[in-house]
Amino acid sequence: MYDCIIVGAGIAGAVTARKLAEHDKKILILEQRDHIGGNCFDYIDNNGILIHKYGPHIFHTNSDEVFEFLSRFTKWWDYHHEVLAYVDGKYIPVPFNLNTLGMIYESEKASVLRKKLTDKYGYGSRVAILELMQEDDEEIREIADYVYQNIFLKYTMKQWGQTPEQVDKSVTARVPVLISEDNGYFQDKYQGMPLHGYTKMFEAMLSHKGIDIRLSSNAGELLKFGEEEIFFEDRPFFGEVVYTGPIDELFDRIYGRLPYRTLRFEYEEWKQESYQPAAVVNYTVSEDFTRITEFKKLTGQKSENTTIVKEYSDNYMGKQNEIPYYAILNEKNIDLYKKYLNLTEKYEKLHMLGRLAEYKYYNIDAITLEALKLAERLI
Ligand code: FAD
Ligand code: UDP
Repeated sequence: MYDCIIVGAGIAGAVTARKLAEHDKKILILEQRDHIGGNCFDYIDNNGILIHKYGPHIFHTNSDEVFEFLSRFTKWWDYHHEVLAYVDGKYIPVPFNLNTLGMIYESEKASVLRKKLTDKYGYGSRVAILELMQEDDEEIREIADYVYQNIFLKYTMKQWGQTPEQVDKSVTARVPVLISEDNGYFQDKYQGMPLHGYTKMFEAMLSHKGIDIRLSSNAGELLKFGEEEIFFEDRPFFGEVVYTGPIDELFDRIYGRLPYRTLRFEYEEWKQESYQPAAVVNYTVSEDFTRITEFKKLTGQKSENTTIVKEYSDNYMGKQNEIPYYAILNEKNIDLYKKYLNLTEKYEKLHMLGRLAEYKYYNIDAITLEALKLAERLI
């Protein structure tokens, strides 16, 4: 009765489902959690604050297509994300930018350095820290060392258990040094938060007569893989299957577990209007947690109370209730991923999509675009 079974009701699964349903396909979504939205899920806590259960999610994109598609299901709170790092009793902007020079050097030196950086890289450019570290000029090297020591080294050690040199270059390049006065964390054309939250956006997206959802349903128990056939509830299923969960779990981890980092969130409810000077403060030189998020500052919610979350990172061990959040990208792990991907190839109608199934570091917008592309192919 279904044309397509989608495993996972996160952004990957939800966008694919909606697009297919609009082309008269009948879709079943299997979601193991008791809610939709995947890691974007948000809800109102006991303190009356809209919080993100799986860490702070800020929407940003340069894609008109993504923005237009998602805007069909939500209005937006016009929010421009700024992050501060807490360094030796001071709050400095992240990414490091030309404003930060004036906060750490006296004014004459700051203006010399400003000129040097703009002459060398061009105003408005984005330079990865590891690239800046290669610079021959001594004064630029001094800035690079400052940024490396005070922004990247300890935060990356906490987040990944590795130094910035050890993690894949693309990871630290996500937060460049900005040769401009832009204090924004992102420079995308569109930025914002769903006006009534992500969950409401997902509800609107999934509200279609062609989409059925089964929550608290683990696909591992319902979908079985034969020699070349896929079985759903013990009967052959001839439709398309879009899988957005961890690829190694799909094959009972026969080659071993794909490595991930997991996160632990510690929430605190405060009976005060404000907790910190920005929605997100990164602890780049001190503390065991990586960052503190104060949710109401992301959403513009007005309240006499506030809720914050401290975020701790650790190796994912596959324990119950532990969630694999970040693929650890390196050659060895990508080779292991490819071994699992090979196993999928004999199932013509099985498609891997999303952060977990593709073992990639996708933002919301990138996965939305991939989901729209996959749906087009299936249509
Ligand atoms: P998920 O959201 O993980 O959805 C997969 C779903 O599949 C889950 O609901 C899971 O329960 C379900 N599932 C898995 N296995 C099974 C199974 N066997 N049976 C049934 N269901 C199953 N992106 C941004 O653009 N901006 C941000 O600010 C941002 N912040 C982030 C902060 C953190 C802490 C993290 C970890 C990520 C952040 N991201 C951000 C990335 C964003 O979370 C992802 O791009 C997005 O959630 C990926 O969606 P997905 O559908 O691929 O995966
Ligand atoms: N990073 C850092 N210090 C910071 C912010 C980021 O060292 O203050 C590094 C860290 O390695 C992190 C990476 O840059 O994992 C990418 O940061 P981003 O904020 O994009 O990570 P996200 O939380 O969005 O996955």
